[in-house]
Amino acid sequence: MKLSWLLPLTAISILGFCESSWAARLTYWKFNKPLSRLELITDEGIQPEAHFLSNPSRVIIDLPDTKLIKGKRKKTARGTKFIREVRVGQFDRNTARMVIELGSQYTLNPDNVEIRSFSPTRWFIQLPKVLPLDKIADPGREPIAIDVPEAESSPSFPPSERPMPSEGSTPSSPSSPFPTATPLPPVKAGGVVVAIDPGHGGADVGAVGIGGMQEKVVVWSVSQQVAEQLRRKGVRVVMTRSGDQEIDLEPRVSMARRIGADLFVSIHANAISMSRPDINGLETYYYGSSEGYRLARAIHKRLLSGTSLKDRGVRQARFYVIRRTSMPATLVETGFVTGAQDAARFRSAAQRTKIAEAIAQGILDYIQRR
Ligand SMILES: [Zn+2]
Repeated sequence: MKLSWLLPLTAISILGFCESSWAARLTYWKFNKPLSRLELITDEGIQPEAHFLSNPSRVIIDLPDTKLIKGKRKKTARGTKFIREVRVGQFDRNTARMVIELGSQYTLNPDNVEIRSFSPTRWFIQLPKVLPLDKIADPGREPIAIDVPEAESSPSFPPSERPMPSEGSTPSSPSSPFPTATPLPPVKAGGVVVAIDPGHGGADVGAVGIGGMQEKVVVWSVSQQVAEQLRRKGVRVVMTRSGDQEIDLEPRVSMARRIGADLFVSIHANAISMSRPDINGLETYYYGSSEGYRLARAIHKRLLSGTSLKDRGVRQARFYVIRRTSMPATLVETGFVTGAQDAARFRSAAQRTKIAEAIAQGILDYIQRR
């Protein structure tokens, strides 16, 4: 969907620092005007809460146990006739609040506000199309809760300590790391089909790190090489984007389903505050299924042995592309563009090739073992 109805809106960012040891930080926010979404980077462990108020229509995002830096307690981005302004402030002692206020003649359907968690520290609040007030029924003054995904501050205990479900186990309690066991589809006559999903693209550059390094550029280089390595081994590979294009998350998932992919591997680079170059390392994510976990584990293991990436664990998270895919899926955060060691690794063509070779080898390990 092209959001041409949205006129330019100044994007601004703030950097915040903890005032006390327990408070988490909102380290970055930006209103992405072409995509009509609010992008946040927070410390881990924050669970944004969102609701909707009318008269005037506004989407409110509260960040509990979060403090803004002194002197930057209030910050406003001026908007357009559709979106009047975006502001951030300290709502009370422990809560930072962000407000996206629409123009007085406009509203939106709160059911279509989507909050996506890309990692425990990265959030997108995607707005639906803004509608003229007289076109829809007034949702009233009552606050309406918006469904928010859990921020996965997931267990990262050693995988050997994880309880693995037995074959054919039935869905267990919701607290289980494996609520469902997804059986692998039978091997196709034409061989295995792997969907490689290079994160971001086009106007969505992803994370921006040291020296202006863009996530979309790094992951494109790595993803292309993963695809090439796999094709050499006779694996059929389909990329969810074929160049520097912006593709939403849903089409990535539906493409994998349409082509009958047996596996889905999403490739990303991580980010945290620019003031933390000391944070580096590999995180590999799965959601729900034991097969997803096995795939994540196979890739993670090869990356640790094939590169000098620091081990930040195989983790469970509710990321869209691994939650909505119907085949075993994993999302690999191949290092931090904001990390001194990882950014240096990403800058080296030879090191990017090593990352790609390790991911490809991990995928092959998984295919051979299934
Ligand atoms: Zn990413």
